[in-house]
Amino acid sequence: AEKKTKALIEQTEKYGANNYHPLPIVISRAEGVWVEDPEGNKYMDMLSAYSAVNQGHRHPKIIQALKEQADKVTLTSRAFHNDQLGPWYEKICKLTKKEMALPMNTGAEAVETAVKAARRWSYDVKGVPENQAEIIACTGNFHGRTMTAVSLSSEAEYKRGFGPMLPGIKLIPYGDLEALKSTITDNTAAFLIEPIQGEAGIVIPPEGFMKAAFDLCKQTNVLFIADEIQAGLSRTGKMFACEWEGIEPDMYILGKALGGGVFPISCVVANQDILGVFNPGSHGSTFGGNPLACAVSIAAIDVLIDEKLSDKSLELGQYFVRKLKEIQNPRIKEVRGRGLFIGVELTEPARKYCEELKEQGLLCKETHDTVIRFAPPLIISKDELDWAIERINKVLS
Ligand code: PLP
Repeated sequence: AEKKTKALIEQTEKYGANNYHPLPIVISRAEGVWVEDPEGNKYMDMLSAYSAVNQGHRHPKIIQALKEQADKVTLTSRAFHNDQLGPWYEKICKLTKKEMALPMNTGAEAVETAVKAARRWSYDVKGVPENQAEIIACTGNFHGRTMTAVSLSSEAEYKRGFGPMLPGIKLIPYGDLEALKSTITDNTAAFLIEPIQGEAGIVIPPEGFMKAAFDLCKQTNVLFIADEIQAGLSRTGKMFACEWEGIEPDMYILGKALGGGVFPISCVVANQDILGVFNPGSHGSTFGGNPLACAVSIAAIDVLIDEKLSDKSLELGQYFVRKLKEIQNPRIKEVRGRGLFIGVELTEPARKYCEELKEQGLLCKETHDTVIRFAPPLIISKDELDWAIERINKVLS
């Protein structure tokens, strides 16, 4: 017989490094917004793998692209061209209205790529003296787990024991324009920001901040880089979260839903005057731009557009927030969100509630201790959402 939940968790905990604290559920099947454990119990997924599964689990069109490409060629390395990379480049450039893209695999790698691009741009184009480039990021940020990403972080636990950190990084409070103004110097290469901070607990900057920060960067010749890895690709009710303030950043960093939760792919996208700083030998990845990822990503982007998932997210998100705000409970401090990217901040740890929601058949995960994040696949129907709201009401009331 196949292993069941208890044995699988024991095996996982025995042999795996202890770098996560998952809820005690094993997922062995999934389709759309639903997942199933080895015993056959069904749950609704309200996390979507941190927004990597915006298109829903195993979207048929994305799986079809995966299967068709798997029968042709999966990896060439960039030593040779492949027939999927060109079409993917054109697709992502048209989607972002930028001239060039550079593909990687994971979000953190794309962040690395953005920092390298910004540094080199500052030396080669802006004229910053060698090794003096500065990157400005925001407190509470999450850009991944590589050394660059943890060097950018303000979280002690993300950094403890991993020093020395990368130099040339300055932090400002998220949303503080005056701090940005006073932190920019002639050596500033870029301002790196999540348009909405996901891991920090769905934190939205004060209205007007993004636009004002963008304008300030334009005035001071600083690159404005948007990490849209979690907030982008329809999650907030727009294709890109930057659209909420009508700005087009100099560089997008994308990942997660770019591969539809089917295959990892990430990238940075910008114009030639920025990404043109890369030349052969300066950057790369064995798997970056592989044909399997590109074929999957083209299908994943098509699904976002064809199924109008931005509009769906916007509409259902407004409805969901309204319903959440109706719940009477003094322990709910705030309900906030854009589209189906919603945080419920409590006055106490959220873990207990996530465990209770799991008992009710609904999977979500606490973030930053006191926030429950609700981020279902964007293909969710109104009826399914009502099903979830009923259970959330039961647990939170
Ligand atoms: N940037 C943001 C905004 C993220 O939310 C994440 C992942 O949660 C990352 C970067 C890192 O992506 P990955 O886990 O694929 O390295």
